[in-house]
Amino acid sequence: MAKKYVYTFKEGNANMRELLGGKGANLAEMTNIGLPVPQGFTITTEACTQYYEDGRMINDEIMAEIKKNITWMEEVNGKKFGDLKNPLLVSVRSGARASMPGMMDTILNLGLNDDVVAAMIAGNPTPEFTRFVYDSYRRFIQMFSDVVMEVGKKYFEKLIDAKKAEKGVQYDVELTAEDLKALAESFKAEYKAQLGEDFPSDPLVQLDLAIKAVFRSWDNPRANVYRRDNDIPYSWGTAVNVMPMVFGNLNDNSGTGVAFTRDPATGEKKLMGEFLFNAQGEDVVAGVRTPMPIAQMAEKFPEAYKDFVAVCDKLENHYRDMQDMEFTVENGKLYMLQCRNGKRTAQAALKIACDLVDEGMRSEKEAVAMIDPRNLDTLLHPQFDVVALKKANAIGKGLGASPGAACGKIVFTAEDAVAWHERGEKVVLVRLETSPEDITGMKAAQGILTVRGGMTSHAAVVARGMGECCVAGCGDIAMDEENKKFVLGGKTFHEGDFISIDGTTGKIYDGIIPTKDATIAGEFGRIMGWADKYRRLKVRTNADTPRDAKKARELGAEGIGLCRTEHMFFDEERIAAFREMICSDTKEEREVALEKILPYQQDDFEKLYEALEGTPVCIRFLDPPLHEFVPTEEAEIEKLAAAQGKTVEQIKTIIQGLHEFNPMMGHRGCRLAVTYPEIAVMQTKAVIRAAINVSKAHPDWTVKPEIMIPLTGEVKELKYVKNFVVATADAEIAAAGVKLEYEVGTMIEIPRACLTADEMAKEADFFCFGTNDLTQMTFGFSRDDAGKFLGAYYDAKIYENDPFAKLDQTGVGKLMDMTLKLGRPVNPSLHVGICGEHGGDPTSVEFCHKIGLDYVSCSPFRVPIARLAAAQAAIKDEK
Ligand code: PEP
Ligand code: MG
Repeated sequence: MAKKYVYTFKEGNANMRELLGGKGANLAEMTNIGLPVPQGFTITTEACTQYYEDGRMINDEIMAEIKKNITWMEEVNGKKFGDLKNPLLVSVRSGARASMPGMMDTILNLGLNDDVVAAMIAGNPTPEFTRFVYDSYRRFIQMFSDVVMEVGKKYFEKLIDAKKAEKGVQYDVELTAEDLKALAESFKAEYKAQLGEDFPSDPLVQLDLAIKAVFRSWDNPRANVYRRDNDIPYSWGTAVNVMPMVFGNLNDNSGTGVAFTRDPATGEKKLMGEFLFNAQGEDVVAGVRTPMPIAQMAEKFPEAYKDFVAVCDKLENHYRDMQDMEFTVENGKLYMLQCRNGKRTAQAALKIACDLVDEGMRSEKEAVAMIDPRNLDTLLHPQFDVVALKKANAIGKGLGASPGAACGKIVFTAEDAVAWHERGEKVVLVRLETSPEDITGMKAAQGILTVRGGMTSHAAVVARGMGECCVAGCGDIAMDEENKKFVLGGKTFHEGDFISIDGTTGKIYDGIIPTKDATIAGEFGRIMGWADKYRRLKVRTNADTPRDAKKARELGAEGIGLCRTEHMFFDEERIAAFREMICSDTKEEREVALEKILPYQQDDFEKLYEALEGTPVCIRFLDPPLHEFVPTEEAEIEKLAAAQGKTVEQIKTIIQGLHEFNPMMGHRGCRLAVTYPEIAVMQTKAVIRAAINVSKAHPDWTVKPEIMIPLTGEVKELKYVKNFVVATADAEIAAAGVKLEYEVGTMIEIPRACLTADEMAKEADFFCFGTNDLTQMTFGFSRDDAGKFLGAYYDAKIYENDPFAKLDQTGVGKLMDMTLKLGRPVNPSLHVGICGEHGGDPTSVEFCHKIGLDYVSCSPFRVPIARLAAAQAAIKDEK
């Protein structure tokens, strides 16, 4: 049977989101459960992929289906495109499988042309209706030109501003029908001036172009950035929803709103939202006028409000989750235009999930599965120092649109935010309102402050999604964006001045307020408890200092998966001894220098064991090339020469000798232990002595050190290093007259180690995937330089993600899987983990669960993310 590319709302349902996109699937579901939805149709995501496969063309088969459904829509609604009695006007909206707010395109009021406008007015020549028709027309021309034909919005905004200035009014609603008529004319003239052709008057041509524009918008730069940030594959495509218009801007008995069934910032169970009378949807989202709280709608539109509250209850009970809805009231009657599971802050997500369990709506497992692990990041972000905050006086207040605290220098454009951030400055982006083009600047900033817009404005929604602090709609700011300054609380702020904003309270402070780490409690602990109950993967941390290790323990780490010992060498007293070791000529000289370092290392390890309270600690032996440790400053070189009894020239010659053309593939990792076994010997002594001491102090703990040899690729080199590590360890244990178990394992970072894992497993007690190096070695590009060209790879759609951030499951993952399959049968007690950056990335964690790793190890602040992701992987697996 031929593929079906178009579905009416009656034909779809909520389970069809892959095909119909989230919006289409939910419009269908709302239709099915009897809610008032204007009846239209959805063109599938497969039609979008086909459009790209056909070289950005809608083929005849799909076009024929669209036409058939247009006829159906005309019949069902009793209106016709271009008809002079009963004209059909539609909205054309994107809708991907995963919601991508503001990233793709929407066109409203499609179907208007001069004849339709004239006929509509002739049918109802009241001033109010005439005004409405011209308002809709000018909006359509503006949106169509911007979205479909890519003529910048600014040209039209200038014309509106000029009109408002000419009439001496502040708001669009104050413009008369005559003004709007004149605007529509000047918009068409602007269109012709920009494009050299007349504005298309045939509604079917308009629709054809609009559908293509929505498909095209799947590939726009901001959608591509959003997808990369949110793990949404390019291959999914977007659906297109074509729906008859209902008019919130028909008269003062009409309006439009957005609402949430629970507070998206806190999770509190109460209807939240905003309503604008005599307006269309984009006015609320764009923050052009500041809307009224939804509760006030009860006074102005009591019937519609009552219906709306009933719809909210019905939708929450149906979806068993907080709903985010768009609706319109036309002449007092309610229409639902969209519903979806609402985006929410991390705090709100936790509260809602717990409340839904308590309300008997969801199981614990479902609650765990509802939370986006990446969102937890925001809970762990800084808050203002409470004492400093008490002393501070707020100079203004906006809406607390996305919680957290931010402090930084004021910038006024997204480009400046990016540039200043790149040179190491912390900035707060202050804008009249944000638009989707600002996304990279918003990301680069610590926080966002806007003059206009509500809780559902672009700035608020996007900041919440990114977990970034945002204060929106501070109307008291007198903004002068052009001259990069504004006045608030009687003070003029210029670019570069410090400002602090509180995304929870909405307060704005002059100057610097120090921030503090967040403390997590309450629902967070409950959800984490459930996550721990259902996950199979253990979660360890990468930590080199007792401070980091303690933090990680607080956040639930069950051990250290990677202690990079070289990070311990950079303290002032140690680096001197370490440099002496590097610049030694003989083994004996090296041993003298290493003897100086040994007590420091032992002390470090003791503190780590203490912090980890008897949970596993895996210590990785020296890994980086030695040139990373030698001095570059003349004075430092002189100091080293004096300490070594060598001339400056001799030291310089040694340093030059360390130069390598390709240091990441050079003299590093276990190769250092092969050439200078005394380094590994010293580290073994430090590990074992520390473990003995801590075992004595805590007889109830199991202190079983794990010694990890980095960068092996050949079993004989592992065996070679292991032999003297074991000899040293055994000698230390015997000398101390104690019993101590320990393990020697290896990092798996070189493809050859994967390919020969059956050999390696004979000599290793454990494997730990160093996927940073494994990715580098598998792709053959440098982990330090790939950033320079990866951008071009994203643009060319060769890669969708940075393989250093998100595990390449196809290539690197295949090597990992092979390693387990080869290694485990040879050594059934082999335990296997991952400690590359991927250990804290949710999709990578899911992959690690699937291939059967024992643990993931990640930086302390990502431990909760990994715990949750591991639980979600296990729960998904059960299904
Ligand atoms: C790795 O390569 O993945 C790893 C954890 O080691 P490092 O990042 O220290 O090279
Ligand atoms: Mg490595």
